[in-house]
Amino acid sequence: MLEVRNLNAGYGHVQILRDVSFKVDDGEVVAILGSNGAGKTTTVRAVTGMLRPKSGSVMLNGEELCGKPSRAILDAGIIQVPEGRQLFTEMTVYENLELGAFSITAKKKLADSLEFCYRYFPKLKERTEQAAGTLSGGEQQMVAVARALIGLPRVLILDEPSLGLAPNIVDEILTVAHDMAVNQGVSIILVEQDVNKALNTANRGYVIENGQVVLSGTSAELQGNEHVKRAYLGI
Ligand code: ATP
Repeated sequence: MLEVRNLNAGYGHVQILRDVSFKVDDGEVVAILGSNGAGKTTTVRAVTGMLRPKSGSVMLNGEELCGKPSRAILDAGIIQVPEGRQLFTEMTVYENLELGAFSITAKKKLADSLEFCYRYFPKLKERTEQAAGTLSGGEQQMVAVARALIGLPRVLILDEPSLGLAPNIVDEILTVAHDMAVNQGVSIILVEQDVNKALNTANRGYVIENGQVVLSGTSAELQGNEHVKRAYLGI
């Protein structure tokens, strides 16, 4: 289980996150919701160590990770599919996927992990030798997700997976995330601006506004919440 408590973080002297707390059980999909600039990506960056939090706690199965270097947090199994995918566009699909196997265990299991990913994304198997930059946006997102899976995540963070993609591709990605939670026990953090899609996939969610968690609940509770309806679902 991942438990984040009272996370405070920002850029320079500007504080963005104020006492952000949330938890994600094993096998659970949790949505982090909020509008542009609310602090969702900053939350993810503080959890993964890309941004050093000013204070707070990030516990993964009882191990304190807050303040540790991002490499140590990656080794502990918190793996992110970054917003904008960040593939090595000149490298082939295979080479990009191989880079996901950074730990000794992941390297040993690379062949099995590749087959596992190709079952989810059969298109990638046909494209192993193609330069990643020449793939469609949807295919690139599949590579980014597969690369994260090859790292054998215990916590998988998806930051805005729907950005610029066709609805059917988004559904495919969200189905994989849901399946990883249910069948592999992975904890999934889904950062999404498409609140409807996020809550249809997630078990629970947290709403962040101005760097603070202002609401949390099950997906059904949030979908029925008047503030969520007005501010995020346009109902
Ligand atoms: P979006 O959905 O648009 O990605 P978000 O909820 O992920 O938004 P963040 O990217 O976390 O929001 O940004 C929160 C605040 O932090 C914003 O006011 C943003 O301008 C600021 N911010 C983000 N990155 C930096 C940075 N590198 N330096 C200074 N301020 C930053």
